[in-house]
Amino acid sequence: MSSVSAAFPPDFTTAMHELLGPEAQAFFKAQNQLAPVSLRLNPQKLSSPPLSSHQFQSVPWCSEGFYLKERPVFTLDPRFHSGAYYVQDASCMLLSAVLAQLPQWQQADRVLDLCAAPGGKSTLLKSQLPQQACLVSNEVVPARAKVLKENLTKWGCDRVFISQNQPIDFRALTHSFDVIVVDAPCSGEGLFRRQPDAIAEWSAAQVTFCAHRQETIIQDIWPCLAESGLLIYSTCTWNTQENEQLLDALSAHLRFEVTPLSFPEGWGVHEHHGIYRCLPHRMQGEGFSICVLKKIEATHGQATRPTAREKKKQRHRQKKAQPFALPQEIKQWFTVPSKYVTQDLISQGNSIVYWPASQQDFLQDLHAHLREVQGAMPLATLKGRQWVPELTWLLSDVFSPNPSVFAEHPLSLEMALRYLYGEALPAHHHTGQQQSSWQWCSFAGIPLGWVKQTPSHFNNYWPKSWKIRQRFLTVDAETNLQLCLPVEAVRPSDRL
Ligand code: SAM
Repeated sequence: MSSVSAAFPPDFTTAMHELLGPEAQAFFKAQNQLAPVSLRLNPQKLSSPPLSSHQFQSVPWCSEGFYLKERPVFTLDPRFHSGAYYVQDASCMLLSAVLAQLPQWQQADRVLDLCAAPGGKSTLLKSQLPQQACLVSNEVVPARAKVLKENLTKWGCDRVFISQNQPIDFRALTHSFDVIVVDAPCSGEGLFRRQPDAIAEWSAAQVTFCAHRQETIIQDIWPCLAESGLLIYSTCTWNTQENEQLLDALSAHLRFEVTPLSFPEGWGVHEHHGIYRCLPHRMQGEGFSICVLKKIEATHGQATRPTAREKKKQRHRQKKAQPFALPQEIKQWFTVPSKYVTQDLISQGNSIVYWPASQQDFLQDLHAHLREVQGAMPLATLKGRQWVPELTWLLSDVFSPNPSVFAEHPLSLEMALRYLYGEALPAHHHTGQQQSSWQWCSFAGIPLGWVKQTPSHFNNYWPKSWKIRQRFLTVDAETNLQLCLPVEAVRPSDRL
């Protein structure tokens, strides 16, 4: 064994030698190198990284993925807050190349991301979601579910239902999903390089504990997968117990076949018994393992899709749904033509929400069985006698604000950061003829959030819990700006 593996638990070292054979030497050497920094662009908001071309390099397996030469202070880039990109390890982006080779993905109507916080896989799934499909993004831990909601709202949460449930809570939604992603809690070996604390937390007993938990999670959610549906299982760990041996254990109870995947040789993906691994000596990225299970239904299984008779009944129910007249005022909020149709809008209590008409029965089922963090995307909420525009639609790309109703308020870097701190913005003379005192702030042409004009200033409607808290040193003594550095120029040492 090499000396470079000395810092790791002996059981881990032995297991990696068994898995990799002669490659283990190179693996342990790579483990001592710095982890690369990467991000994935939101194709609805940004077409190339906000950097000069010598500062980034493409991730081969994800067209929206880029490595950065150095780690900037992302907090100081307003585009980080407006969902223009997601900071994500490049290995995790392999999911993009997995989806691209699954014909069933393009046909999928209903997708579940079961272990979704903080939202790395969900934002990727959302970007590649087929046009007709909806995504249920679930996280069991309440505090993490909040972060998930924040990240998905920033990314664009149309057609996304966010829930906070245990896998077993889904049991009433039998055969409901065409694709289920289980990015499972794991022993985290793939994080050792980036988070050295993970080394101290690792033990053989922890691996066994994680493998049992993964088995329970998959068994609990399995009935919710449609016949011939796909379960994409991934972890950020390499050991066989949480991968190959887990599939063996599952095959004693569940009927599935492991879907073979193929990746260009040059990418360096490691294949072993249907598990595809990203290893740091082969690929620029951290640890990630992924496989795809295709469900084979037991002969006595229930039907997965509604029968023709059920479909007719559903249509009948939809026809009988209460007619809903969109208030004239709200009709004018959006530019025409836009992607939505009136049937996609639903009146829900004091709110008007958006959800595709073709999936409204599914929405009823989700409401009935899940603890929701956010259901269909809110557009407007009635407060007193006033309709208040929601941030969700401003940050999604389904609706665009009508310029004759809402003025755009383009912000400089300094003003955008002040806005993200939660400061009120100074009033400015505005010559437009807009009908509303609501205005939308943008930075670099990307919507950021709402402000409301008063005679003396603009009230800030950036959500309080999303405010940035770090303060940074100024370099500009003349203007005494606290927040004026371009993201590329700021280092963590600049923090006050
Ligand atoms: N998919 C996420 C992403 O790409 O950003 C990362 C998910 S993380 C690896 C695993 C998640 O599973 C954690 O958010 C954790 O809270 C959640 N989790 C923990 N125990 C769980 C359980 N028993 N059932 C379902 N999810 C669980």
